[in-house]
Amino acid sequence: MKIFCAFLLLAVVFFQCSPSDGLMNITPEDDTSTEHPVISHFYDLVSVKRDGLDSWYEPRSQKGTIKVYIHESVPEEDRLIIANFLSEIKELIRNESIQFEIINELEGYNIGIVKGGPLLFNEVFKNDRSFPPSYLGAATYTRNNQDCAQIEKAELWYTEGETLLKHEILHTLGFFHADYADKNGSIMYHNITDMEPDMTENDKNVLRLLYYNGVYGSIVDTVADCDEDAMYMDEVESEAFKLLLNSIIDNDYL
Ligand SMILES: [Zn+2]
Repeated sequence: MKIFCAFLLLAVVFFQCSPSDGLMNITPEDDTSTEHPVISHFYDLVSVKRDGLDSWYEPRSQKGTIKVYIHESVPEEDRLIIANFLSEIKELIRNESIQFEIINELEGYNIGIVKGGPLLFNEVFKNDRSFPPSYLGAATYTRNNQDCAQIEKAELWYTEGETLLKHEILHTLGFFHADYADKNGSIMYHNITDMEPDMTENDKNVLRLLYYNGVYGSIVDTVADCDEDAMYMDEVESEAFKLLLNSIIDNDYL
């Protein structure tokens, strides 16, 4: 049996994007011969794809001081994994404006973590989301009303495993799933049996790109179109956006 994890969009996003919306069918560039491998991986991980729906791009990130609430259901060994993983992420993204802070109260969280199933998840975060029984973990997020490229808060549940925990944390930081065949692998596949046990180099580089905020600008701040229907398509597919990606990459940021 295949075991899945999931990243659920906000209902408002999901239901406004019906199959008849005419969203463009996005596939990575056919001509990847001259393209840095992280570019196609970037487009893969910041796109959303669903059964019966085409995919669309939605690069977004957490910002500022990211308060991470860890529920009492998370055991000590997993807290250590979380702390180490957040440190690794902080070093990777080299963005001084991002900080992680572990908090013990639910109040004001940006990322919330519970170890347990949907029942506990719904109880702790006071929601009523349902998940297929085959899921071993999932993450959800809410966008900031004023800054749609910012994740205001995100929550995850997981039942077991370091890889799944890291996978869900990356969802709360802005990654969607690796939907396309990628010979280099990813920790972000839907199916747990396909996931690399840790971030691949491409995964790490996409995270760096997503959180880059330097002389070439910020990727998420570049996609400022909050129109739900547009889903950033025009901006992300624009030459200017690709130039931004390439400028960051060409200047040895990765
Ligand atoms: Zn997932």
